[in-house]
Amino acid sequence: MKVLASASDTYWLIDQLRTQGKRIGLVPTMGALHQGHLSLVQRAKEQTDVAVVTIFVNPTQFGPNEDFQKYPRTLQSDIEQLESCGCDLVFTPTNQQMYPLGHSTFIEPPSVAKDWEGKIRPGHFRGVATIVMKLFQIIPAHVGYFGRKDYQQVAVIRAMARDLNLPILIQACETIRETDGLAMSSRNRYLSPSQRARALGLSKALKMGQTLIDQGCTSGQTIEDAMRIELTKAPVDSIDYAAVVHPDTLEPVESIDGPVVGIIAARIGNTRLIDNATFIRG
Ligand code: AMP
Repeated sequence: MKVLASASDTYWLIDQLRTQGKRIGLVPTMGALHQGHLSLVQRAKEQTDVAVVTIFVNPTQFGPNEDFQKYPRTLQSDIEQLESCGCDLVFTPTNQQMYPLGHSTFIEPPSVAKDWEGKIRPGHFRGVATIVMKLFQIIPAHVGYFGRKDYQQVAVIRAMARDLNLPILIQACETIRETDGLAMSSRNRYLSPSQRARALGLSKALKMGQTLIDQGCTSGQTIEDAMRIELTKAPVDSIDYAAVVHPDTLEPVESIDGPVVGIIAARIGNTRLIDNATFIRG
């Protein structure tokens, strides 16, 4: 496995591999890797010839009062995990490399970025879209792998790829969970044992949503109310949103007559967690 910090070295290596006819799979991450990330690498290995992972804690997607400074950075262990799961190339740029002095060009995110995370974290998707676009330039991959765990992020990247005619296929991969249901996240390591127990409220609320669908419920509002009750029971400390939305537009759905997605963002102590689930009538 090669580990490169230089954007130009990385670009030229990928260029060479493409010339040899290799298909490139790209997995952008912020590091602090867990099984969720590794599942994306696994998928890239299955579907393409060269699995490339990027590790970069992107400052422009964090708000001024968010956890950029304290975001976990575990590069050595990340590299070991990637090596043992058969990753081919890791790109680990510095801030200076990605945002040199004078950097002032940003991507205006698509309309699906407006609500939910976009509203609560102003500028977040502008930072995400910009860094992902930059990574797509440095690593011109055939397929980009993203986790459904960040449901709105996948929608934003898909829309950006469509709107800007990017020659890359965006693959959304399922959320990997702990055995008790907690969605794996780099931020879970902020949780104390008792907070971790309360964090189960998110997956429990989503399970409740699916249960109501199974019972024939067709009201988005009823499901939202039930999810909020579960979250309050956990208890989470605050709810940023809990909603039932259309899978593509992410607009709230009042009367359910097809697949919908339950999306939740809640805070436990200082930790902000998100989760989602697609509700399907059986
Ligand atoms: P992050 O490092 O948190 O920015 O995540 C990098 C990629 O891994 C994103 O595409 C995430 O959606 C994805 N990811 C994070 N957690 C999970 C998970 N539990 N299951 C699947 N994918 C995940």
